[in-house]
Amino acid sequence: MKIVENQSLLSYNTFGLDVRAKWFTRVKDVEVLVSFLKKNKRPLFILGGGSNMLLTKDIEALVLKNEIKGIKIIRDFKHCVHVEIGGGEVWHSFVLWAIRKKLGGVENLSLIPGTVGAAPIQNIGAYGVELKDIFIKLEGIELASGRRRIFYKKDCLFAYRDSIFKKTLKGKIFISKVVLRLDKKPRVNTSYGAIQSVLDYKKIKAPGIKDISKAVIEIRSSKLPDPAELGNAGSFFKNPEISQTAFRKLQREFPNIVFYDLPNGKVKIPAAWLIEQCGWKGKRIGHTGSHARQALVIVNYGGATGEEIKAHAYHVIDSVKEKFNIKLRPEVNII
Ligand SMILES: Cc1cc2nc3c(=O)[nH]c(=O)nc-3n(C[C@H](O)[C@H](O)[C@H](O)COP(=O)(O)OP(=O)(O)OC[C@H]3O[C@@H](n4cnc5c(N)ncnc54)[C@H](O)[C@@H]3O)c2cc1C
Repeated sequence: MKIVENQSLLSYNTFGLDVRAKWFTRVKDVEVLVSFLKKNKRPLFILGGGSNMLLTKDIEALVLKNEIKGIKIIRDFKHCVHVEIGGGEVWHSFVLWAIRKKLGGVENLSLIPGTVGAAPIQNIGAYGVELKDIFIKLEGIELASGRRRIFYKKDCLFAYRDSIFKKTLKGKIFISKVVLRLDKKPRVNTSYGAIQSVLDYKKIKAPGIKDISKAVIEIRSSKLPDPAELGNAGSFFKNPEISQTAFRKLQREFPNIVFYDLPNGKVKIPAAWLIEQCGWKGKRIGHTGSHARQALVIVNYGGATGEEIKAHAYHVIDSVKEKFNIKLRPEVNII
């Protein structure tokens, strides 16, 4: 592996922050990585597409940029296939591959930035579908030893924007490949309101996976800022889940509160609504601010530092806590 010193990460994170990596290398081959790790003494940091991280300082480690490629069907059943995908594949390119092959399951997850290897980290989700719904297994390489490990669904402890890789195994496992199940006769999921509205508007009565993907791309492009134009990492905060008791108390004070009952008995409150009520939507402070179309997204208007963006995020957290007594938790990895 060719190691470069003092590499700028400006073009490797979607917030567009100009921090530096002490060392930087591209990982294209698992075998090479495994033998490298057996002798390695440097601290390590894993980078995918940099679309879910806020870099507040230089990385005093060797950055391993995942560029392991390859998509292949490894098992072919009557109704579905198992597909093995290199962790360095771009997630949306894989979605387009599945749609070309007429294989369903990932169309609702169209246009999510980043790599396939990072998708299990926060169990990516959008428009009524989460990665865990189609997940079979992954191969992870222990950074400390170079040992290969297989993680099945139950091992990953998937939850809402969460997994074991964000908890006890955070920063310890390099995800080299992921195996997902795709359906040969897909049943489309239009449960998310906006998808059905787009289909109705286009008079599509019997949508296929391509129609769903196009609808999702249309909705996302109209709602979310494009990181190529305005630095951001998508939703900065998770939607909080609170108990029924806490919710009833809140509803008495804020009768218009938006909420969703969850199967686990808790109540989910959209973080965007809470942030909007505190007056942050469209508010710019210096080089950063909360986006005008989507209050959940914090943007870099150009020239912001990671610390400045972090300070903005914590102002938002503090004001939501003060008004609603709810502590917002960042979805983005603050580094
Ligand atoms: C405009 C926009 C919209 C978004 N919309 C959504 C959405 O709808 N739903 C959603 O869930 N997310 C969304 N995201 C967040 C982001 O796209 C996902 O979290 C994505 O999976 C991150 O992939 P990445 O390769 O960029 O990860 P990175 O940002 O590079 O890394 C994220 C974390 O995972 C670790 N990591 C990365 N790759 C690996 C690996 N191979 N092995 C082990 N650890 C690894 C990193 O060290 C870091 O801690 C959005 C982001 C943006 C910018």
